[in-house]
Amino acid sequence: MAAPLFGVRRLAAAFLTTTISCASTRVCADGKAGVSSRTPKKTGRSNSKGCRFSFKIGVQSRLFLSEVQPMRKFQFGMIGVLLFSLVPAICNAQVDTRWKIHDPNRPVPPVIDPGTSSTQDSAGRAPSDAVVLFDGKDLAKWAHKDGSAAKWKVENGYAEVVAKTGYIYTHEAFGDCQLHIEFSEPVPPKRESQERGNSGVFLMGLYEIQVLDSYENKTYADGQASAVYGQYPPLVNASRPPGQWQSYDIIFHGPRFASDGKLLRPARVTILHNGVLVQDNVEPTGPTEHGERPPYKAHPEKLPLGLQDHGDPVRYRNIWIRELKTAE
Ligand code: MG
Repeated sequence: MAAPLFGVRRLAAAFLTTTISCASTRVCADGKAGVSSRTPKKTGRSNSKGCRFSFKIGVQSRLFLSEVQPMRKFQFGMIGVLLFSLVPAICNAQVDTRWKIHDPNRPVPPVIDPGTSSTQDSAGRAPSDAVVLFDGKDLAKWAHKDGSAAKWKVENGYAEVVAKTGYIYTHEAFGDCQLHIEFSEPVPPKRESQERGNSGVFLMGLYEIQVLDSYENKTYADGQASAVYGQYPPLVNASRPPGQWQSYDIIFHGPRFASDGKLLRPARVTILHNGVLVQDNVEPTGPTEHGERPPYKAHPEKLPLGLQDHGDPVRYRNIWIRELKTAE
């Protein structure tokens, strides 16, 4: 039976082995002994060559050996446990102790108009504190990479990708944000896999949330709709048929870099596709690319948001963004 995970004595024992055990003795069936600089995986057991391992970590640690052996699977795992215990302190908001519980003097959040939800027939209204990036009328807040006016087609309340005109980017730069965007895939569907209704939402112009017609369209998992492209497949495929309006609600926290360019923390992204959780606070490994996962490269905390021209006439409507001022 598995040892209890967090018994105090076992934790102490594991901690000792984690911190002290850096040499071990190997005793083999032929009577030869050798010293390994690495802690063997099967401490206290014979391996396939008939060798038996035991620790040489001093009297103090030997006292714990009977505790250590059931915990051998934790020798390295405990490092992860200890580090993992720090994660909430790094990632989660902390209760502000300047205010006592239910303090009547604590400032209340600002009041906003939350707007309205969209229907298939009409786009909803953005929250009152959002920056509306596309309201169905024009692409004045967007441009191509060279700065020229966006050449995508705008009609009937939507913007449609015009093949070979290129990606479009917001004039304004954004970092940590809540982004709402709606899209509709071409009807009738043409071609298959990545060639069917491909576009993409490029957070900070670098991190692609795939837009694809993934309704009854097989492709690789980390390239289907709402995937963090090439890195994280969605938890479920919540796609609607082509021609119907679909939505992404994205919570994004950009990466942070030290002044020398070192990565301090990776980006984080959570996505609802058509209201369904599909990415749960995942950490991109770096910018998204086809066929590779390049590492992070230092960049500003805010960069323009991009939409991809992949050659397919994908339509967009009701795009708005709320900048997040999260405590660091
Ligand atoms: Mg794409």
